[in-house]
Amino acid sequence: MQSDTEQRLERNRSVIANNPIDFENFGMARPRSYATSTTEEIRSIDLADLRRWRMLTPGRTGIPAITWCTGHGIDQLGVIAQRDGVLFVRRDGEGYLEKLFIPFVFTPTKFGGQRAWFRYPGCRQSCRILYGVNSLRCRKCWGLKYQSQYEAPAFRLLERARKVRRRLG
Ligand SMILES: [Zn+2]
Repeated sequence: MQSDTEQRLERNRSVIANNPIDFENFGMARPRSYATSTTEEIRSIDLADLRRWRMLTPGRTGIPAITWCTGHGIDQLGVIAQRDGVLFVRRDGEGYLEKLFIPFVFTPTKFGGQRAWFRYPGCRQSCRILYGVNSLRCRKCWGLKYQSQYEAPAFRLLERARKVRRRLG
């Protein structure tokens, strides 16, 4: 049974284009489709959706992106599936690629299978839905009372982007 909050987030979560995009051109691809979001700033990512959109297969060509249409424009997060978690990539304000790895933890199911959960490092909570803009946390960590600007940034520059920056500096 979903809480009211979860149902609201479900509705507010805008979409989602499963458009494979080249790493070099990450963020350049136009989303194939997206829903218009309300004024809410909340971004959420459901592990079940990533599975449904077939974004969790490691080694696939192209980087599928989740796209949100917000009041400030289009937000895009690349999803790079790995065996032990998901590497999310995005562009920062200056166009550099940033990454954030969210590992999986697995719990056994009744039928001998395994169920994957997200677990942000430093959080004891396993979750299926990640929240945030500058970080991706469980709902408890993120705290729905906080606006995105109060989030501590958790994304880090990709190594390659750092090198470019060093060379330019
Ligand atoms: Zn947490």
